[in-house]
Amino acid sequence: MSPETLLQTSPAVAELPLNSSDAFDPAVDFDPYVMATYGRYPIALERGKGCRVWDTQGREYLDFVAGIATCTLGHAHPAMVETVTQQIQTLHHVSNLYYVPAQGELAKWLVEHSSADRAFFCNSGAEANEGAIKLARKYAHTVLNIENPVIITAHASFHGRTLATITATGQPKYQKGFSPLVPGFFYAPYNDIDALERALEELDRGDRQVAAILLEALQGEGGVRPGNRAYFQRIRQICDEKGILLICDEVQVGMGRSGKLWGYENLGIEPDIFTLAKGLGGGIPIGAMLCKSHCDVFQPGDHASTFGGNPFACAVALSVCQTIERENLLTNVQERGEQLRAGLRAIAEKHPDTVAEVRGWGLINGLVLAEETPLTSADVVKSAIAEGLLLVPAGPKVVRFVPPLIVSAEEINQALEVIGKAFSLLG
Ligand SMILES: *Cc1c(COP(=O)(O)O)cnc(C)c1O
Repeated sequence: MSPETLLQTSPAVAELPLNSSDAFDPAVDFDPYVMATYGRYPIALERGKGCRVWDTQGREYLDFVAGIATCTLGHAHPAMVETVTQQIQTLHHVSNLYYVPAQGELAKWLVEHSSADRAFFCNSGAEANEGAIKLARKYAHTVLNIENPVIITAHASFHGRTLATITATGQPKYQKGFSPLVPGFFYAPYNDIDALERALEELDRGDRQVAAILLEALQGEGGVRPGNRAYFQRIRQICDEKGILLICDEVQVGMGRSGKLWGYENLGIEPDIFTLAKGLGGGIPIGAMLCKSHCDVFQPGDHASTFGGNPFACAVALSVCQTIERENLLTNVQERGEQLRAGLRAIAEKHPDTVAEVRGWGLINGLVLAEETPLTSADVVKSAIAEGLLLVPAGPKVVRFVPPLIVSAEEINQALEVIGKAFSLLG
């Protein structure tokens, strides 16, 4: 569930100790000027270092949100500080009218470290998915000779907030009020191979033909739901048999967050297309769509982005990639993830009526609240914030843990202590 919906359903948020600093008053300095598309927690953050951030009143928080799975290297990481400083003094933006060497370097790194052959750069996850949807449609028209291509996506998926990507998103709450939606999408339950095969048969009987299947390797917003290996392997087989494309939305789970560089590596498959954004620039806006050469059907003029792949964003993203390698962060993600899940499971055992399950990969984990408890993820998040720990819901019943990939063992223990205490009080 989005924070805005959470806040609407959780009046208690307003009762958090409100920021009363003279320096920043939301009612005076913010709300009159900014569109109210977000429900915001009543703290104003102004500084960060490592896995910690500070608000305008100097209060410290342990940041297990990381800009929603985005600040890969935490805050003010020396590698980012150096690259940002250096690149802004050298060249920050030109245009794709010209060659941009940093764009080539980043594409080379991504291609050499993944199953893809080529990259296209944009600025966000939604845009990366738009690019993937356009590429799949062009592939359908030019290679598969499909006139009415359909892309199958999953229930509870999340693919972004543009019109095509809210349509791709299999959650009606994101689509409500924005019809007419974009044609050419069909939904099937996630991790359910029989339902998917039925959907394919149903579409085959109609005049709509499937061009691609678009799935998250692990559903993030939909509740931190890891993909099932057998399900994805069968889908890969089906795509190969039918010559259709498998697209993985790696916007949240990619870039090392799962303990492997790409979420799909946990499933033993290779997608034809995959998309990146959140963690790629470590918090500097950049998105990417990558594909294997057989489906690279874009010609000059087919797709573009003014800012996409500019020297600044690409240099920073490359330094994030190189830092993941140099600092051996995948090992840290695996070890800290094990530690976090073990600690959360111990808390779950103490509170069997409140906590149903702990699930996730690497450093993307969800603590799933029991259906029977009136407690919501928003309640847990609010009490954690009050204790100096930032967390984010992934739906009404799942508390999400997505700290920076540099998080230390001590910081995991500190977060576990806060959560343990919160459940002792709440549950
Ligand atoms: C966040 C997210 C997006 C959208 O990314 P934006 O940068 O907000 O457009 C798309 N897909 C997934 C899986 C995401 O988690």
